[in-house]
Amino acid sequence: MMASESASLSESVSSESPPDQVERLYRELEAKIREYRPNDDLGILQRAFRFASKCHEGQSRDSGEPYMVHPILVAHILAEMRMDLVGMVTGLLHDVVEDTSVTVEQVRKEFGEEVARCVDGLTKLSKLDFFSAEDRQAESFRKMLLAMVEDIRVIIVKLADRMHNMRTLGFLNAERRERIARETIEIYAPIAHRLGMGKVRSELEDLAFQYLEPDAYRDIVQAIESRRHSNEEFLAEIRQTVESELRHEAIPARVDGRVKRPYSVFLKLRRQKITVDQVYDLLAFRIVTDSVKNCYAALGVIHNKWRPIPGRIKDFIAIPRPNLYQSLHTSVVGPHGQTFEVQIRTEEMHRIAEEGIAAHWKYKEGRKGPAADDQRIAWLRHLVEWQRDVQDSTEFMSTLKVDLYPEEVYTFTPRGKVLVLPRDATPIDFAYAIHSDVGHTCVGAKVNGRIVPLRSPLHNGDIVEIMTQPGHEPSKDWLAFVKTSRARNKIKHVINANERAKAIEIGQKYLDKESRRLGVQLGKFSRGDMERVASEYGYSKMEDLHAALGYGKFSARQVLSKIAPGAVKDEPAETRPAAAETSSPSYLPPNAPGRREDGDAVIKVRGSDDLLVYRAKCCNPIRGESIVGYVTRGKGVAVHSKMCPNVQNLMYDVERKIEVEWARAADDAFPVRITVHTDDRPGMLNQLTGVLSDESTNIRSLEARGALDHDGGVVEMTVDVRDKKQLEKLVSAMRRISGVRDVERLFN
Ligand code: MN
Repeated sequence: MMASESASLSESVSSESPPDQVERLYRELEAKIREYRPNDDLGILQRAFRFASKCHEGQSRDSGEPYMVHPILVAHILAEMRMDLVGMVTGLLHDVVEDTSVTVEQVRKEFGEEVARCVDGLTKLSKLDFFSAEDRQAESFRKMLLAMVEDIRVIIVKLADRMHNMRTLGFLNAERRERIARETIEIYAPIAHRLGMGKVRSELEDLAFQYLEPDAYRDIVQAIESRRHSNEEFLAEIRQTVESELRHEAIPARVDGRVKRPYSVFLKLRRQKITVDQVYDLLAFRIVTDSVKNCYAALGVIHNKWRPIPGRIKDFIAIPRPNLYQSLHTSVVGPHGQTFEVQIRTEEMHRIAEEGIAAHWKYKEGRKGPAADDQRIAWLRHLVEWQRDVQDSTEFMSTLKVDLYPEEVYTFTPRGKVLVLPRDATPIDFAYAIHSDVGHTCVGAKVNGRIVPLRSPLHNGDIVEIMTQPGHEPSKDWLAFVKTSRARNKIKHVINANERAKAIEIGQKYLDKESRRLGVQLGKFSRGDMERVASEYGYSKMEDLHAALGYGKFSARQVLSKIAPGAVKDEPAETRPAAAETSSPSYLPPNAPGRREDGDAVIKVRGSDDLLVYRAKCCNPIRGESIVGYVTRGKGVAVHSKMCPNVQNLMYDVERKIEVEWARAADDAFPVRITVHTDDRPGMLNQLTGVLSDESTNIRSLEARGALDHDGGVVEMTVDVRDKKQLEKLVSAMRRISGVRDVERLFN
């Protein structure tokens, strides 16, 4: 494994002087490159090494080592990936512009255009902040994507840089450690995954996991360690059996048995809400053979020997993943009732699974890198393309996340064309994946010959036939269940246009009606006067102000008082909207159903105090949570938690999003629904209610039942909390009770 290799490089040198150490590491780098590029002139690498050494002279790492150790070890990682010389020179120089007085111009003069462009890309990447406010975060992602499209080597060097930083993360303080680890697991590991670089991804995930969840990491490693003896016996036994069975069938193969990675065990535990003692299939085998035919033959051998678990057989050979991963997967029940996983692939598939896009430099000599039509590059291009159309950063981030953490289903057109869609995608997504017109005019769908509701999730292997009707238009309801950014954007586009036309009409009527009521003669004012008022609201056209009025963003009275100052008198205080107990809906658009009694004085709309605000029923946000407002027509502003699953679907219309904040602190209580998953043992309920009374929390309802799907219990309750802090305290107190597996807050 790469980790141990490089770790030993730096550990074995404690007795030599720092300059000697740097020189030796550099010589080892050259030797490594010589192994696979015996005829290359390494002059440029030499020069880059001298150049970078001079730039970083006197600087040291947090580990106390000379700074130069870092770029050289990054280049070592790149050499292990067998990158080309431009990549490795970039590796040596990647921090010179960032950390020293050298400019990109100087790098260009010394090392040429390609290297300069890559170093420039890396310098820009190092300045991005992925955890800033949403807008800037989205901007960071855009810049990263652009850098990647320009030259994929930029991101490969960045991944190598991140890998070395993660290996030496222990030297940093806790705060920086956590930040870097989080960025690694949320951004760089998923990108490595999308580029098919399985080996890099696994190492990044395990290193980050170790820092982010130290307790869970320790528990898992200990549990694995405590079973090492029996695991090893089992691995050896199965391996021998597999080898002899394959030999018997004359299938040439290499068989590897291994314990799963700590991070993948952790995900499994979290997904299934079980403890580490309850995980049985910690073990996995890999069979690498010579041909596709023998992959299937080997699968037959395995299934003949042990019973396969239904639903766990996956054929990624016939249908590769978008990152070009290919393999057969199956899980079987072994000799002692022990389940384990088997992956079967050819040598070529194995290389692609481990190295992904980096394999291009290794095996396709003479080629400059992956071809532009490589699916993994195509994915990047698509992202860059559609991000240009997405104005709203929340929207951009959420769709990017869908694209970065996909789990795909493979579906077919009636003619057998494969469409890869994200998990839980619906016939609507399928229709839009064919063509936007097919999507817009979709009125029904047949899956495997049977008519299904448009919202039903598609499964692997489904054959989907879309029924269309000319002139049909997409429905807003679709936004609640579509899964692809493509479908979402196309639907929004049509709906926004329609809604806007309606809002303009409503806004106009509303303004006319209020002006008559208040005795303002709109006809007296020129177009110029009106546009001046529109621009006071930040709109260039009167039409936009009409739309805003129609959406209910402002009251017509407000607007009229700007058009004709003095003509509109202040209404008496008690009819002002903030006082939610009155019933005059005069500030609401004409189609308003009237003011509601549940107006929420605990939330304020930024910059406006005459809008009716209420907490959305679906997520019921509590004080202290991040919230966002959504202007509903005629009903005021619905306030959702930013975590609310509905929020992403509702926020399809940027114009209707509005900033809201929690008003003065008060002791209002917010009801919150909580589900607790527990072991089924006596006394559990007592302990739970004990925690609630320790925190002096009022319980509105509480119900316990045995779970249907596993041998635990489930307790559902509704409790009153003051704010997010109190809720968090409560949840962590419940989690500390032994036997509590998980605590969830319910949104719906
Ligand atoms: Mn670096």
